[in-house]
Amino acid sequence: MKHSLRRKLTSTILAVVLLSIAIVSFTSNYFINRLFADYVKEQQLLQSQIIVSTMSSQYDSDTDHWNLDNISALGMFSIYDGYIIKVMDANGTVLWDAQSHDMELCNRVMADIEQRMNLQYPGLNGEFKTTIHEMAVDDTVIGSVSISNFGPYFLDDSQFEFLRSLNAILLGIGVLALLVSIVIGSMLAKRISEPILKTVEAAGHIAAGNYTIRLEESSGTGELKMLVTSINDLANSLESMEAMRKQLTEDVAHELRTPVTILQSYIESMIDGMWDVTPERLNSCYEEVDRIGRLIDDLEKLSRIESEGFHLSKKSVALHTVLESTVSGFFNELDRKGLTIEITGSQPIVSADPDRLQQVATNLLSNAVKYAKEGSPLSVHIFESDDEAGFSFNDKGDGIPKEELPFIFERFYRADKSRNRSTGGSGIGLTIVKSIVEAHGGRVEVESVVGIGSTFTVTIPKV
Ligand code: ADP
Repeated sequence: MKHSLRRKLTSTILAVVLLSIAIVSFTSNYFINRLFADYVKEQQLLQSQIIVSTMSSQYDSDTDHWNLDNISALGMFSIYDGYIIKVMDANGTVLWDAQSHDMELCNRVMADIEQRMNLQYPGLNGEFKTTIHEMAVDDTVIGSVSISNFGPYFLDDSQFEFLRSLNAILLGIGVLALLVSIVIGSMLAKRISEPILKTVEAAGHIAAGNYTIRLEESSGTGELKMLVTSINDLANSLESMEAMRKQLTEDVAHELRTPVTILQSYIESMIDGMWDVTPERLNSCYEEVDRIGRLIDDLEKLSRIESEGFHLSKKSVALHTVLESTVSGFFNELDRKGLTIEITGSQPIVSADPDRLQQVATNLLSNAVKYAKEGSPLSVHIFESDDEAGFSFNDKGDGIPKEELPFIFERFYRADKSRNRSTGGSGIGLTIVKSIVEAHGGRVEVESVVGIGSTFTVTIPKV
């Protein structure tokens, strides 16, 4: 099962290679044999002409005399070449006849050729054929040569040997190609299947909860690289989700521990009689309970916003109306710290969820009030462009250190831990702001200088 991919790839590559080798061998064999037969046929025609002209040259017209010794020698050579010759003069008198010269040799040569050709080329339907060629000198017929040879063509020993060697070489090349393709095919299959198998293994580990596993991104194939990258991305996001889940549990426990511990020690002291029960002490207890209540409230809000079913009831909203109503809700807090506030800018209409937008403004204004210096001015500026609109809250307050800015939108993050306990923040307000603004397709930005103040800017699309 584990190696079935590799086996399949190897056998597919092998099947393709085998088929290619078979096609190449078959076609090359067929064409080589055909071309060679054509060549041999031509050679044999030429050979007949050479025999005739050589025989003609044995006649001396001056003396009307034939060189019979040469004719006999040439005739004998021709027998060994597969040509059975009979030479006649102009009167039809036989000058030399291979069969009567050495019948046994002729029969043996003919039987050899016939047997070999019928064995090797059974489809050729070959047989010995006789052709008569006239010999002439200056248009005067001096005689004729009858040549019998195996037709349409025949191969002699060396030609057979040549074809045999050629076929052996082709077979050798085929076997070599097959061996090489087995080696390369299995290497290739290994190269392709290995990263896939590794990825499958890694996916199995991830499914079993081991999110730290990562794959090496070394494969050269684009699609495999993409697969490895996707698995690594998946592991990354699962790991960070797992870390966030753990962090959240830790943070909630931590956030609850402080007020509960304080509450516990206050109440214990009162029960033990070490402390008198006074309205002030009860008030301190109430403050801690209130802090826990607010924390739970914030967590509930955040979980609602971050849950999958979170739905925005968008409608046309006048930004300045939302901001004015938010500001008027802070009348007491502003008054208590002697803060002034001014709303400036344009009056755009946006498509948004008014209640959620009010929540954003409330959280930002609550922070501005919390961190502003007593008696300082706060300002809200509304702006718009062609397709976006937004607002910014500015306070002349403590500001936020530069290195802390990237984290302030994270859950439970508080820039200055000691300062914030006194200001009562849980570190969730800005997380809620960011979630709501992003659900609207917008963004929150912050500019802040320690000791000077901070500006939080919210921008959302108009529609
Ligand atoms: P909190 O409830 O603690 O205010 P937030 O999520 O609203 O939580 O803010 C996170 C942290 O960012 C705060 O603890 C505070 O340190 C910093 N912060 C937010 N707004 C301001 C501001 N206007 N001026 C200075 N610091 C701020």
